[in-house]
Amino acid sequence: MSPRFIFALWAAKLSRLVIRLFGRDGSCVPGIIAVKLCPDFLARLKKPETLICVTGTNGKTTTSNLITSVLRKCGYEVTNNSTGSNVQGGVATALLADATLTGKPKKSIAVIEVDERSSLKVYRFITPDYLVCNNIMRDSLKRNAHTDFISYILNTALPPSVKVVLNGDDFICSHLFPDNRDRVYFGMKSEIPEGSVLASRDVVYCPECGTRLTADYVRFDHIGRIRCPGCGRSSEEPDYAVTAVDREGRRFTVSCRGEELDLRIVNDNIVNLYNCCGAVALLCEMGIEKEKIRSAFEEMKIVSSRYDHIDSGKLSITTQLSKGQNPVATARAFNYIASLPVEKKCLLIMIDDKSDNTKNSESVCWIYDTDYSALRDPSIDRIIFAGKRCRDHRLRALMAGVDPEKILTTDDLFAGAELVDCEKYENICILNDPYILKEAAQVRETIAKKGAAE
Ligand SMILES: [Zn+2]
Repeated sequence: MSPRFIFALWAAKLSRLVIRLFGRDGSCVPGIIAVKLCPDFLARLKKPETLICVTGTNGKTTTSNLITSVLRKCGYEVTNNSTGSNVQGGVATALLADATLTGKPKKSIAVIEVDERSSLKVYRFITPDYLVCNNIMRDSLKRNAHTDFISYILNTALPPSVKVVLNGDDFICSHLFPDNRDRVYFGMKSEIPEGSVLASRDVVYCPECGTRLTADYVRFDHIGRIRCPGCGRSSEEPDYAVTAVDREGRRFTVSCRGEELDLRIVNDNIVNLYNCCGAVALLCEMGIEKEKIRSAFEEMKIVSSRYDHIDSGKLSITTQLSKGQNPVATARAFNYIASLPVEKKCLLIMIDDKSDNTKNSESVCWIYDTDYSALRDPSIDRIIFAGKRCRDHRLRALMAGVDPEKILTTDDLFAGAELVDCEKYENICILNDPYILKEAAQVRETIAKKGAAE
């Protein structure tokens, strides 16, 4: 064992201890230190028996949480980085935290979420047994460029020996990793009602022959059944497919290679049903018994910072994470709120990507890349944009045809709570960026207090 590796491991473990003593989470720094001191640290660290990586544009955290949660309920010891960072430093931190002082894994399985753009830096040193990829969609333009760029990185980075579990309904994702022979697809049957047909498409012409693609149906963006009339390339037929969704009864069915599995709905957002189906496909492929998966889903909860609902007095308050810089995730969040079966909603939108304002050259082009048309839904009676970028959001909403009478704006994130008229509205929905969780929690508390006082 190399003294350099051992030194890096101990230094990183010590730094993690110190960071935690100061009450910080330290989800990235120990790993960065380890890699600085020993550049092939990740390669030298012994891996757990089974290594699962989860990647893709949207749903990585939710999917790796689902997989981890089921495995833990089944009695496995699992290493996981879902609460921390998903770039190289974060991956190293998660693995070293669960390693002994000689660099051996203490747990038998690791479920590691990997940022797709960091793939080259990660898969160069670690080779997963399984890779789940949820989707490849447009994302922050300045960071992730476009889907061809991300596809190229993924195809270059992943060794062909890895078993891949791919979203077959995603025309881009389902054709990734052409050299990986061991392939499993998940998806959703066309009979399931569509979310909505939105304007953005990340693939218009066939990457193989250049013919314009046609769609049998589109669930959203380029998710659906898409095919090329020129060469016949199409979305892949799923081995694991959601075949029925009963939103009222909170159940859904996944056909697992022909065998039906009835599961509790954790969250009925269509994107989350895809995440669940991807997790089920992976777990079944690992050989986890279906009955154990079913019973684990009965107790599963979605992380409350992603989605939460509380009642306060006569107010019903829903909070939903809405990731700024990410056009598809934001449009899906708008769409989900519009589809909630209650009338006269008051929607408070706090998408203020603070880190982008302060640590980066700020880009607002993603706002114009996002489909705001769901905000026209008649069930949404009031829209409040709060935060420094409120006027950009308002302009984009007007371009999408939203009634200007419905819109209020404020530069101050906290003042959003004051603009919510709790006498007029009972259904309050808050959409917030992941960088302002504390502010959003405070705003929700202010609104909840108003509700309780009435
Ligand atoms: Zn073609």
